[in-house]
Amino acid sequence: MTDEPFRTIIEPFRIHSVEPVRLTTRAQRAAALAAAGYNLFALPAEDVLIDLLTDSGTGAMSAEQWAAIQRGNEAYAGAPSFYRFREAVTSLFPFTHVLPAHQGRAAEKILFTAACGPGMVVPNNTHFDTTRANVEFTGARAVDLPVPEGLRPAARHPFKGNMDVAALERLLSERAGDVPLVMLTVTNNSGGGQPVSMANVRAVREVCDRFGKPLFLDACRIAENAWFIRVREPGYQDRAVADIIREMAGLADGMTMSAKKDPLANIGGWLAMNDGDLAMRCRNLEILTEGFPTYGGLAGRDLEAIAQGLREAVDHDYLRYRVRSVEYLGEALERAGVPVVVPFGGHAVFIDARAMLPHIDPLAYPGQALACALYTEGGVRGCEIGTVMFGLRPDGTETAAPMDLVRLAIPRRTYTQSHIDYVIEVVTRVAERAGRLSGLRIVSQPGQLRHFTARFAPAG
Ligand SMILES: *Cc1c(COP(=O)(O)O)cnc(C)c1O
Repeated sequence: MTDEPFRTIIEPFRIHSVEPVRLTTRAQRAAALAAAGYNLFALPAEDVLIDLLTDSGTGAMSAEQWAAIQRGNEAYAGAPSFYRFREAVTSLFPFTHVLPAHQGRAAEKILFTAACGPGMVVPNNTHFDTTRANVEFTGARAVDLPVPEGLRPAARHPFKGNMDVAALERLLSERAGDVPLVMLTVTNNSGGGQPVSMANVRAVREVCDRFGKPLFLDACRIAENAWFIRVREPGYQDRAVADIIREMAGLADGMTMSAKKDPLANIGGWLAMNDGDLAMRCRNLEILTEGFPTYGGLAGRDLEAIAQGLREAVDHDYLRYRVRSVEYLGEALERAGVPVVVPFGGHAVFIDARAMLPHIDPLAYPGQALACALYTEGGVRGCEIGTVMFGLRPDGTETAAPMDLVRLAIPRRTYTQSHIDYVIEVVTRVAERAGRLSGLRIVSQPGQLRHFTARFAPAG
């Protein structure tokens, strides 16, 4: 007898409490969408059947996390919940200073306020939307330096999330004095949920050392990234994910984190670093907007949920299921002829809306048009990652983003395989009638992060 694994990779959990979802008619969905100004962020969640808008804070917590919540201690300063949180964080990310924050963006706001200002430049493999907005809010410029494969949706490469190290070197040789820090987003979210290799992190570290620059990780999906390293990067097949994470953190000087992603919590985040001076400035800023540095805008019970979530996030059975369930959706769409970003990322499948809807100009937002169609067709809510999200320049002009994608993000431990089979059917049906979809125009929008609140109308 061998311990041969079965082909079916099952959800490694049973359902413990259930939350009903509401079925709607196509007419109800069309009306809801029009009322929302064709912006899926403006839809009441109860009108959504399968919500793949984001994997952020939308996952299911475990029985152990709910139990940990009962242990939450709400002391203003020095709560034991903080020390348990810090212990869980530093066991994976051995940084000297750990500042909890209510979300990842709060950590970004504090870090960039302390480190950036007008005339500065922050390089990243690809800035996440809030990261870019927080860099730009200080007057600095956010520069994306992805490897060329990362911008080609159909290019197969094991580490499409990598940074273009030569481009980083060029930027630093020209403007080293203007660069306060270098950032690496693992996994590279906006570039398709694609992993960054350890070799790439090491190469970026080497360039940072040469120019005397600190390296920060935007580590929101580092457990998924580490799983990809374990299965794809030579030399890591026998390493534990927790160990791979420690190795990567050891190459960095600090990190920002959203606990709503891999740490399996519904809220929270943190900022961590080794530099004591920077940490002191960050703590002072933290007190202004987040709270005392041992709770940072979170309840003690949230800190407990994060601490337990971090332990579960590095479990190999969980990660194998997580990555496989995303791949399952991607492979089925690919078989159905839907243009998707390959290889599949850790938390989402990205549909190449520009390729699916070549008759819609990028400035008529093919990604938004497709996301709206998926909702009207089957109540599936995805998210445009393209010209709506990235096309508005700080000076108010508009340009096509490098890609127009629709992201179907998979909440952690939340939907079953039959939910995903339904999604496959909805996307396939929309793809069969893609030629009939038309574009959108923007009716109103704010000056930045417009995708959250812009209102649209059908074009023409
Ligand atoms: C979600 C996310 C953030 C921001 O975190 P929030 O908790 O949503 O504020 C930053 N970077 C990346 C890569 C993310 O995925």
